[in-house]
Amino acid sequence: MRLRISNAYLVTLNERDEIIENGALVIEGKRLTYVGPADRAPAGPFDRVIDGRGFIVLPGLINAHCHSPANLYRGLLDSRPLEIWRTYYRATLRAMAAEDFYASALLGAMEMLKTGTTTVLDHFFGNQAVPFMGAGDAIRAMRDLGLRHVVSLTLSDRPYEDTVPLKEASAALQPEIDRMSQSETRATDSWLEACADFIAKFHDPERLTTCCPGPSAVQRCTDRLLQGAAQLSERHGLPLHIHLAETRSQKLMGQRLFGCSLLRHLSSVGVLGTNLSLAHSVWIEEEDIDLFASSGATAVHNPASNLRLGSGLAPVPHMLAAGVHVALGTDGAASNDGQNMFDAIRLVSLIHNPSQTDFRLWVTPHQALRMATREGARAFGLEGGVLAPGSLADVVLLRRDTAAFTPLNNLVQQLALCENGSSVDTVIVNGEVVVEGGRLIRMREEEVLRLAAQSMSRLKPGLQQEFEAAASMEPALAEMYFQVVGGRKQ
Ligand SMILES: [Zn+2]
Repeated sequence: MRLRISNAYLVTLNERDEIIENGALVIEGKRLTYVGPADRAPAGPFDRVIDGRGFIVLPGLINAHCHSPANLYRGLLDSRPLEIWRTYYRATLRAMAAEDFYASALLGAMEMLKTGTTTVLDHFFGNQAVPFMGAGDAIRAMRDLGLRHVVSLTLSDRPYEDTVPLKEASAALQPEIDRMSQSETRATDSWLEACADFIAKFHDPERLTTCCPGPSAVQRCTDRLLQGAAQLSERHGLPLHIHLAETRSQKLMGQRLFGCSLLRHLSSVGVLGTNLSLAHSVWIEEEDIDLFASSGATAVHNPASNLRLGSGLAPVPHMLAAGVHVALGTDGAASNDGQNMFDAIRLVSLIHNPSQTDFRLWVTPHQALRMATREGARAFGLEGGVLAPGSLADVVLLRRDTAAFTPLNNLVQQLALCENGSSVDTVIVNGEVVVEGGRLIRMREEEVLRLAAQSMSRLKPGLQQEFEAAASMEPALAEMYFQVVGGRKQ
């Protein structure tokens, strides 16, 4: 397939942040082969020419952290601190079957593609009773719709009560704690074998799939699991993904378990490197920021989820100033309520200003767009996130005749601050058009919605019982939370 887009406004997000007003772009197979002025574009023939007048062309957005099983649960859970919230969220996963993981991933993939995201990292944790916890079903969904994906299998081998600063839990809670542990953790070697099998079975970049290990979080893994996961990544030249310091409790557990910060622990066991991306990175010690920068690792900022769960604000302006690579994600829909990356771009451009008195460090629209594109690509070793010859042909066309771009005063500011995804018209992934006229090409949208609704109606009766069990944990976790934050329990 040889395709040309001509006479468009190109926002390249290349090293020089070039914007080409009357630009053309040529795709041959799965790569971009020309990006530049329209009057210098190579001659045809082309299999298809898209008249780009009236369009803005961007590299496809990269959602650097989400959990696809959560897509069925948007709007479902009350806002609570993470340690409380996650007992309810994890309860939703225990009842899910293969077709539910498929439907949930399909729903999120549809929302992402229609709002301009062409690659997602799915930090996958599902149900251990389903093969590969359901990750294979999520992969099938994302391949079906044509969304590029990095699926990072979640691993955890420490018992639950060791991972949160609970005091002696009451005997009445122990059965529920044990049940949570059993559904989440597994022996170290068994995880490493499962992850190696997962990579052997599904890793296939030609079919849009990158697989990699995804240790759940530093405090939830033994050193042997962290190192085993890192070795697996290194052996296959893959990324490595983990949650880091999302809440104050986690920061506290770092000190308690390792006698140092969670980031320093990762460094001391030899896991902190350029292929590692660390979701959240909220509670980072100031003295660790230089270590973060020099490691070449990537922090993945999830502003909506951090607000919804009251987790805190990652020190993004400081990180950027120190040279830390920062990518952007939505996190799961159960703590964000959607998978729209334009929402994340707008939030990161705004939420750090009040706490950063030095306005020269405020996140600029260019920085926000780079976080949502090239920084994600870099983190996952993908040659994308930029409009440049040789880059993966993952491209988004936005209409200019919308409220977001009328009048056109400052294109980059309007992309970061005005656009909400509704101007997305055409989306190309791996050289193939997968959204056109704002609609999915590969599957009827009504079918995606029907499958999601069907899954939810099947799951709903069982959820009530799971939620009651989760609610039994809430008082002890609330007490723990107030002890950690020093607030007053009413
Ligand atoms: Zn997460």
